Amino acid sequence: MSAAEAIRILLVDDVPDKLLSIRAVLEDLGCEIVAASGGEEALRKLLHDDFAVILLDVNMPGMDGFETAELIRKRTRSEHTPIIFLTAYPDDAFAHRGYLLGAVDFILTPVVPEVIRTKVGVFVELYRANQQVRRQAEERIALAQEHAARLAAERSNQAKSEFLANVSHELRTPMNAIIGMTDLALDEALTPLVREHLLTVKSNAHLLLDLMNEILDFSKLESGKFSLENVPFQLRRTIEQLVGMIAFRAADKGLELRCLIADDVPDKLRGDPMRLRQVLVNLLSNAIKFTEAGHVALEVTLEMQSQGTARLRFAVSDTGIGISPEDQERIFAPFTQVDASSTRRHGGTGLGLAIASDLVRAMGDRLGVVSRPGEGSTFYFALAVQTYADVEAHHAAGAEREPSTTAEQRPGGALSVLLAEDTPTNQKLITYVLRKRGHAVDVASTGEEAVEMAQRRKYDLILMDVQMPKMDGLQATTIIRNVPDRARVPIIALTAHAMVGDRRRCLDAGMDDYLAKPLDVGKLVEVVENWARLGRECEAR
Ligand code: ADP
Repeated sequence: MSAAEAIRILLVDDVPDKLLSIRAVLEDLGCEIVAASGGEEALRKLLHDDFAVILLDVNMPGMDGFETAELIRKRTRSEHTPIIFLTAYPDDAFAHRGYLLGAVDFILTPVVPEVIRTKVGVFVELYRANQQVRRQAEERIALAQEHAARLAAERSNQAKSEFLANVSHELRTPMNAIIGMTDLALDEALTPLVREHLLTVKSNAHLLLDLMNEILDFSKLESGKFSLENVPFQLRRTIEQLVGMIAFRAADKGLELRCLIADDVPDKLRGDPMRLRQVLVNLLSNAIKFTEAGHVALEVTLEMQSQGTARLRFAVSDTGIGISPEDQERIFAPFTQVDASSTRRHGGTGLGLAIASDLVRAMGDRLGVVSRPGEGSTFYFALAVQTYADVEAHHAAGAEREPSTTAEQRPGGALSVLLAEDTPTNQKLITYVLRKRGHAVDVASTGEEAVEMAQRRKYDLILMDVQMPKMDGLQATTIIRNVPDRARVPIIALTAHAMVGDRRRCLDAGMDDYLAKPLDVGKLVEVVENWARLGRECEAR
């Protein structure tokens, strides 16, 4: 029953004048008075409605008041409705029979207005109070159910995100072997056909890896398990690198790729370059994917600058297919793509924009879009960043060291490398790559073994897998750092944890750098050789 629903009184009497006079007396109670001229009609009314109280004449032709009361009590809907008999005869035997049938009172007719109004009023009040209690109980039950449903949904969402994160993480390890081994095979002398097949394997393995990374990222974002970094970086260098990463895709489609960074935009910033890069790569990749002719542009402008901070505006625009106003509202939701046909044509998961907009939100703004179908789209957001006069000075003050990567700086001579890694294919791959470069590699399969070997021999560099049985790479690193004379040996994490937070954990445990699996063979060599050089330089000082 809703709060506004009227309270009804059923009045049963065969004499129309009596009905009229009692109705007049009860009008003040503010209830709806439903009249019936006999027992049958009363029973019919009781089929449809609930009543606060029934006033029932005893003497009626056909079915009398007692018979009517008996039938009223037999129906579930009216078994507890209070019945007040109206009678002209003050007879005890009468009253006794009435009470046995469940009457709550008797009123003598002709009625005294005050008496009937007071008696009926009591039942109306009781009914009203009863309804209110029931309503409150229903509201509380509904609230409790809603709360329980929300909790269950949150829990299952959390479980889903954790499951996705675990699965995609586990998938990265075998992917590492597939990509690494394909790289090795491509290094050999091959017939053109086999080379072509292997290149197809490689490009598909990379596609699969991108997909897994997106799912991993999204599930981590959803379960709240990610944190932003706050490290110094150079904006122009970061953007140059990311534009370099995707320039070939634009060139493949014959699109012009413009990159405009306004002169007044400060270069030395502090923030999360990896996340910024991820958002921009997502937007630029989409722009290239959904544009067949014309250009794609990345524009960075300065919105505001004050002491030590700046607000930068990033805009990625294209001259592509555009997005209708209705679709603009949908595309930021996960797994949403505008239409099935373009999906088949362009591929993708529908996760890119969901991730990008979550990241932009985490960095403090909203990812917006303006677009016209057939003309193109512009995605934009603004970021508040800290500015630095000298990033390098900050580096020295304890931020991560970045080894330089130019060929001239590479150390000559063979290196001794300890590889702590439990997966046989990865052991094989890394050992092969480093030995091919002339370096000596010892392999440890557990964290404990790595600690023992590092105590026994002084290596130029240690490659440390993070997840290993018994003792993990983080613990092993902490112990090695406390071994006399091993405080400065470069330790590089090898891990399938491709998230920013994990990288931080490695650095916090005392590692110097981080290589994400699947490993890029070229990068592995570069990082190993540069860090070993840095390590030797530190030793020499
Ligand atoms: P995906 O690109 O993997 O499908 P996204 O979340 O990145 O997923 O994008 C969702 C959808 O938004 C795309 O499928 C596409 O329909 C639309 N979209 C995104 N960027 C553009 C763009 N620059 N031009 C036209 N449509 C776009």
